[in-house]
Amino acid sequence: MTKLPEYNFQPATLKFLSAPKQLFINNEWVAPKDGKTFETINPATGQVLAEVALAGEADVDAAVAAAKAAFPAWAATIAADRAALLFKLADLIDAHADTLAELETLDNGKPIRVASRGDLPYVTKHLRYQAGWADKIEGSTVPVTFPNQFVYTRREPLGVVGAIIPWNFPLLMAIWKLGPALTAGNTLILKPAEQTPLSALYLAELVREAGIPAGVVNVLTGPGEPTGAALAAHMDVAKIAFTGSTAVGGRIMEAAAKSNLKRVSLELGGKSPNVIFADADMNAAIRGAQWAVFSTAGQECVAGTRLFVERSAYDQVVEGLRLNVERMVVDHGFAEKVHVGPLVSEQQLSRVSSYIDEGKKAGAQLVTGGERVGEGGYFMKPAVFAYQDDSIKLVQEEIFGPVAAVTAFDSWDELVERSNSTMYGLAAGVWTKDVGKAHRYAHAVQAGTVWINGYGMIDPAAPFGGYKMSGFGREMGKEAIDLYTQVKTVWVNTQ
Ligand code: NAP
Ligand code: MG
Repeated sequence: MTKLPEYNFQPATLKFLSAPKQLFINNEWVAPKDGKTFETINPATGQVLAEVALAGEADVDAAVAAAKAAFPAWAATIAADRAALLFKLADLIDAHADTLAELETLDNGKPIRVASRGDLPYVTKHLRYQAGWADKIEGSTVPVTFPNQFVYTRREPLGVVGAIIPWNFPLLMAIWKLGPALTAGNTLILKPAEQTPLSALYLAELVREAGIPAGVVNVLTGPGEPTGAALAAHMDVAKIAFTGSTAVGGRIMEAAAKSNLKRVSLELGGKSPNVIFADADMNAAIRGAQWAVFSTAGQECVAGTRLFVERSAYDQVVEGLRLNVERMVVDHGFAEKVHVGPLVSEQQLSRVSSYIDEGKKAGAQLVTGGERVGEGGYFMKPAVFAYQDDSIKLVQEEIFGPVAAVTAFDSWDELVERSNSTMYGLAAGVWTKDVGKAHRYAHAVQAGTVWINGYGMIDPAAPFGGYKMSGFGREMGKEAIDLYTQVKTVWVNTQ
């Protein structure tokens, strides 16, 4: 095994790391049919953490067959009993939270404090919230124009759901999909990102321990091609729930269109505007703007990467941001003090670096940061750019790294126009003491979530999803259940 950082790891973490990592199909650990594996890397060191099974098409077929066979009984299980199993799973996740947080930090790089106080508690909050819907999924009676016809609707599950998720919040993304999918009576195939497969595999063991029946949850590790693509093209998969890049989201829709018209929900990238008006509480706004973009080393879909500042406050904000950002500690996730961990992979580091180079060439002014730190791991100093030209790549494209772009605005119309000038529409923030202005902006901006005098809060009860090319479908809240069910209308002749 590779060298781990100085840290008092849970014995379960060490045991898990040294055990074989197979595929989880029908509540059993199985080797991939063609014996292939891939490596998952510790982004803080660049070293291999573990060898993981690589699911090929035949393995996808086997998992889908298991999930399909498990579906009728799971869908017919009394809703409260389904919920009870999910509550049991939540309890087990809580009991193993330290280990799961350590695996997230090892695999993804995020600070352990964030994994254990942010990701993990939120995972179980979400699961419990969704499980609570199980026995509240109701249909309705419909007053039709025919006499002697009684018409009612039922909300029924879809069948086998494929969940394809990214690496920024590995376990959380898994539960965002698993929670509502299972609550509503679907069975699941989970494909974690190839960069961060570990917590999903650990979760599989807890699924079995919770007593969730065989075939209801299957975990297939492997890359987008072939594992994800085979799921997206499968004739027996009823839906793909996807979080990731807009490009891959498009490919998934294409695969759905060419196969069985499976349902697709997409939570994609963003290039979210965050606005500071001159009347805002400046300390809160600058701090808020800083964390809006640099949490998780900027690898968040909602990152407030485009910071719009009212002209009269611009210099103060740029300087305040620079000072705050230069104080941020870049280090590995288990360090005593760390604000910004490594980027998830070498590929991600070089993608982000190329955006920085291009930004400079395109005339944006680098205020601070942007250089690689150290050699083994994939660390980068948080970067702040000042810019005016909205058309440059740095400002239009999702970078998914620690890069903020700050600009000044002069008028309301300019602000709204520029806020909405990317293909994305996931989130937005606005900082002002003027309540009316805050709501006016919240209504004018094309975004699925808007935060007023805050940034980044997400809650299991609050619907979440994108406008425009940030995707469609709303996860969380009751709307998440709608994403995993379909309506059946039943006509009864009462004559
Ligand atoms: P990605 O390629 O979209 O990956 C997301 C998931 O889709 C992963 O599990 C990936 O597998 C899988 N996948 C890739 N190609 C596929 C295909 N043809 N069919 C089915 N599944 C497929 O994202 P990424 O490469 O990890 O990151 C690239 C960029 O995406 C980031 O820089 C960022 O801009 C964006 N992103 C957005 C979010 C978000 O939360 N909205 C999250 C992550 C990334 P493998 O990765 O295992 O191959
Ligand atoms: Mg990794």
